[in-house]
Amino acid sequence: MDTKNKNIQKEVKGIKQPKSIQKIKLNREKLPSTKIFIESIAKGNITYLSKAITLIESTNSIHQKKAIKILRECLPYANKSVRIGITGVPGVGKSSFIEVFGKHLTQLEKKVAVLAIDPSSSINKGSILGDKTRMEQLVRDSNAFIRPSPASDSLGGVARKTRETIILCEAAGFDTILIETVGVGQSETAVHSMVDFFLLLKLAGAGDELQGIKRGIIEMADAIIINKADGENLKIAQLAKTEFNRALHLFPPKKSNWIPKVSICSAIENSGIENIWKIILSYLKLTKKNNYFDEHRNNQNKFWVLETIDEQLKRKFYDNKDVKKELKKVLKQVQNNQLTPFEAANKVLLKKNKE
Ligand code: GDP
Repeated sequence: MDTKNKNIQKEVKGIKQPKSIQKIKLNREKLPSTKIFIESIAKGNITYLSKAITLIESTNSIHQKKAIKILRECLPYANKSVRIGITGVPGVGKSSFIEVFGKHLTQLEKKVAVLAIDPSSSINKGSILGDKTRMEQLVRDSNAFIRPSPASDSLGGVARKTRETIILCEAAGFDTILIETVGVGQSETAVHSMVDFFLLLKLAGAGDELQGIKRGIIEMADAIIINKADGENLKIAQLAKTEFNRALHLFPPKKSNWIPKVSICSAIENSGIENIWKIILSYLKLTKKNNYFDEHRNNQNKFWVLETIDEQLKRKFYDNKDVKKELKKVLKQVQNNQLTPFEAANKVLLKKNKE
């Protein structure tokens, strides 16, 4: 073979099988068909459920496309659950509570999925629920499924992935979804916008029942549960219950017509747990009767459409090369008192509009 021909062959080979395509093919071959995914998930197959969640969490574009297809097909099977958000500061006993509450529910023959939203998970790869030994019993329960917080570069990313995971879990037959979040910052708002019932865990005795509480979180709560109501703590927990009840009366009534409840429990002694489920059941009864339940879910869907658009627009904007350059320039000028922050912002915005 002459050199010219050899070169042509090399070229043809190169065109036929560039490395990237080989890789894509391999990935494609490895993935089961969407149909298999859907059928298996609908039968409650946990392996396929986990695989599908991994696709949602993946940054690989083929995985993402597959995940979108699976999600779309899963939608008709989803939605038939109660979604409960659980928040509270670190150490309040969220994991311990979810362990006993989850066990209580599985004993009632519920299928329980436990998910999490942890905005810090991009740094430490999912701190909450990351350590599954914290829910030793629940993790071994065949009617429970526990998935740690997905990692992402933004809270919006973490929230979206968790929200999509809810759909998959529902399609797999999980009828009770518990979503844990840390009691700091914006993550509560994200969880609140994807659950039917929002539960705030508190501790008694810190003397901050009325002062130290974040108003916004209290307003979101459908129930305030004072945990660690055991031993010497029991009395102050009961006192705190009265205080919270009084405080809640100062808040405006909720759109749902639901009056938030205050209750005490001990995750360690497994007391007060049954009552919390009863509270949730009466909430469901009320909100399904007055249509708030469906209305609320519709509004949440709308919220997520707009939220996703917002996030994509922002990302595209800030990723723009010229915007980055201009932003750097004007920030310096603001620092040197050469520009007002508003003028600076307008300059950056105009940069993008000029394109
Ligand atoms: P999280 O950070 O909110 O998830 O809290 P954990 O569930 O990890 O609990 C923090 C600590 O509080 C652990 O040492 C638990 O054993 C303890 N704890 C949790 N619930 C209770 C309770 O009901 N009573 C008592 N006395 N301790 C509890």
